[in-house]
Amino acid sequence: MTGGVGFGVFSVAGDEPRVGFRVGHGVLDLATAGLGAVFNASSLNSFLALGRSTWEDTLARVDQLVTSGAEIIPLEQATTHLPIDVGDYVDFYSSLEHATNLGRLFRPDAEPLLPNWRHLPVGYHGRGGTVVVSGTPLVRPCGQAKAPNDPAPRFGPSRRLDIELELGFVVGAGSRLGKPVPASAFRDHVFGVVLVNDWSARDIQAWEYQPLGPFLGKSFATSIAAWVTPLALLEDRFVPSPKQDPEPLPYLCIAGDWALDIELEVELSGTVVSRTNASGLYWTMPQQLAHATVNGASIATGDLFASGTISGPEHGTEGSLIELTSNGARPIRLGDGSTRTFLEDHDEVVLRGRAGELELGEVRGTILPAGV
Ligand code: CA
Repeated sequence: MTGGVGFGVFSVAGDEPRVGFRVGHGVLDLATAGLGAVFNASSLNSFLALGRSTWEDTLARVDQLVTSGAEIIPLEQATTHLPIDVGDYVDFYSSLEHATNLGRLFRPDAEPLLPNWRHLPVGYHGRGGTVVVSGTPLVRPCGQAKAPNDPAPRFGPSRRLDIELELGFVVGAGSRLGKPVPASAFRDHVFGVVLVNDWSARDIQAWEYQPLGPFLGKSFATSIAAWVTPLALLEDRFVPSPKQDPEPLPYLCIAGDWALDIELEVELSGTVVSRTNASGLYWTMPQQLAHATVNGASIATGDLFASGTISGPEHGTEGSLIELTSNGARPIRLGDGSTRTFLEDHDEVVLRGRAGELELGEVRGTILPAGV
């Protein structure tokens, strides 16, 4: 569909939030389009729960409405809201390049990849309740941190606030407890994708993360786009994923092309500091979903699964500042001549994604000083 971006929730001039479809630089109001009561709602969840055939029928109806010249509300008049009531949030670690880079920085004297990494998509359960929509300002988190040579931990605002460029997928149709979702059932359960910024306080993270993984260094906020792009709009963007060696266990094997060819960029206070592509991710979305449910854990409408930081092999393709600056050792220069290692107060970060003609919803956020 020309100009189609995805489904979201919006309001105009203080009206009740409702579901809309973004097309180009405007929004089609689905609450008044005669498509059903599920669109007169403050989240996409009721619509998503209806399942794959309804998603496809709706997209066809939306296409007809757009083609027939239905009224499109200019984006400037619309206030966007969090598009989904987020249930559980899982964050993976699916980029081989990112996992290798981080392993070198966090454990310089050891093998960068831990022994499990090539056998399963490593992930952790994050905090669904602190997922916010693009445009929401981010207050610099406070916490406990201790550099390796510090005699004792300190408490205060994070000094190493970072971004993580990620691609997430949103669950539409849930599953039953005790019944794993096979990789081959991915499209029956997953509605679409969103860009994700998994904000990360590196100093808090480095001190707290062993042995149980990320906690307060991540949970303060996670930003997602206002528009969820249905998989159906990305059909021509599925490409072969990187070869996996060793071959994963059978429950992680799936036929077909499952990497998404989406060009990505990170803009920091007006300067693009990274360009990469989601197609390089080692673990694919169906593998992530199959792994997350193989123990019988159920999924539900509104669950969010994020890829992990997307980094490429060359300098300038990394999806986080800790990688782009070699852990702060190599500051990057912005267009105004200033330099950055980690985020400063009032910095604005914008993540963008482009799949051919389709521009995904961006993820924008500005850093506010701690305690504001
Ligand atoms: Ca992450």
